[in-house]
Amino acid sequence: PALASAAATDSLAAEVARILTALGAAPERFTDGARIVRSPIDGSEIGRVADASPDEVAAAIGRARAAFLAWRAVPAPRRGEFVRRLGEALRAAKDDLGRLVSIEAGKIVSEGLGEVQEMIDICDFAVGLSRQLYGLTMGSERADHRLQEQWHPAGVVGVISAFNFPVAVWSWNAALAFVCGDSVVWKPSEKTPLTALAVSALVDRVIADFPEAPAGLSELVLGARDTGAALVGDARVPVVSATGSTAMGRIVGRAVADRFGRAILELGGNNASIVAPSADLDLALRAIAFGAMGTAGQRCTTLRRLIVHESVYDRLVPRLIEVYRSVRIGDPLEEGVLVGPLIDAAAIAGMEKALAAASAAGGTVHGGGRAAVAGLEGGHYVRPALVEMPAQTGPVIEETFAPILYVLRYSTFEEAIALQNGVPQGLSSSIFTTDMREADRFLSALGSDCGIANVNMGTSGAEIGGAFGGEKETGGGRESGSDAWKAYMRRMTSAINYGSAMPLAQGVRFDV
Ligand code: NAD
Repeated sequence: PALASAAATDSLAAEVARILTALGAAPERFTDGARIVRSPIDGSEIGRVADASPDEVAAAIGRARAAFLAWRAVPAPRRGEFVRRLGEALRAAKDDLGRLVSIEAGKIVSEGLGEVQEMIDICDFAVGLSRQLYGLTMGSERADHRLQEQWHPAGVVGVISAFNFPVAVWSWNAALAFVCGDSVVWKPSEKTPLTALAVSALVDRVIADFPEAPAGLSELVLGARDTGAALVGDARVPVVSATGSTAMGRIVGRAVADRFGRAILELGGNNASIVAPSADLDLALRAIAFGAMGTAGQRCTTLRRLIVHESVYDRLVPRLIEVYRSVRIGDPLEEGVLVGPLIDAAAIAGMEKALAAASAAGGTVHGGGRAAVAGLEGGHYVRPALVEMPAQTGPVIEETFAPILYVLRYSTFEEAIALQNGVPQGLSSSIFTTDMREADRFLSALGSDCGIANVNMGTSGAEIGGAFGGEKETGGGRESGSDAWKAYMRRMTSAINYGSAMPLAQGVRFDV
């Protein structure tokens, strides 16, 4: 691809080097190696990294295992203090790290910063959690007995992350894992290794300043699927949390199950919003625009299907098409830009293929195609597309990781729910309605089949306080808030006899 002007190219690479150095990464980590890292903003080279060999992955797991054996003995609130300091370090580095996310993943400035804020938020959550790793006590059926459960650290947690949340996904897992008494080995996306190096350097500094934190508590292994496979196949890693495509999850889930490990799978979504007859259309319009075009359609929770009641279709859809026409596309580092680039040329090809299939299936395409951004000819810019579809067929039932919104019409609520649930994925969903019964029916067991179901807001973006994840081909994992921490611990159930008789359960007699 044609490169942007030399000035722009130099400035991105130079800025990346400045940020990585400021955060403590050794220069050879981001300048030496066979893997060339490019910014989607202009296609310019911003760094070079070396992939970890299988031996290096095994060694990293060995160090993490040794660290776990020490870390599990540190009291949980003290482990929380470690995560509190991690949160403080992230607060201090927020501007730099957010900027690096924007340069490497192509997110607009507020989203790059928002991603780091999410890391800070989950650290805060985890600090409180460190004093709340509660087990239950249950009434025993036997006299003078007590039944209780405890939650113990699980071991080494493997984290595999996707390019689109290059740092936040690590933190959702790592902040909880650390307070739970686990160590973490992270295999970030091969498309975003530099942000991972930055976070790793920052964590290493926090570890070095915390007396009880062992070296090896947080390990980083760079590389692509082979590196990930080495992590996934290692029986010293009892928990593997993998975020990415359903195709990846199908392989990783099987490999982990094969050795009886535990997989937390956070896979693809195909999220829909229903716009009901009573919807506040102004509110819906804004939520839909952000949900479908924000992050250039590259969120797992991006709105991909809009199911609109026939009575409001002609009042909503033409306005939406107008918003699609006028949205500002361009350099994500520039103030006022709302849609930055796709991650790479393959993502553009995927979008074009889906739009061609949608046309062939009878869809009417508005927008789409490459967007020319002056001075950034090497970047991967597209116009977001809205496609009016006659039916939920062809590419509509797949996740294409690009800004395509398929619009469908419905007449009965049951029909809308059937469309909403009629795809293989089950991550996020929402309804726009001011009818209380309809809203609660959507949230009931007979409504949405997704892990996330919202009312009068979009599908995209979640707060860390709730458990995050989805059903069906989204993989079933839950991360972040609520009781998602339990996946990072092992449960021990104990019966304690404080009497002098020895009754057996279920009335069984065994008199010797
Ligand atoms: P991807 O599946 O190509 O890669 C994700 C990660 O898995 C990368 O680190 C990759 O190297 C690794 N990987 C791939 N194959 C592997 C294998 N066989 N063994 C071990 N590791 C392997 O996904 P991507 O393009 O980086 O990200 C986009 C996808 O991620 C979308 O499908 C999106 O919906 C999904 N995603 C889901 C969530 C969620 O929480 N549900 C969050 C973010 C992204």
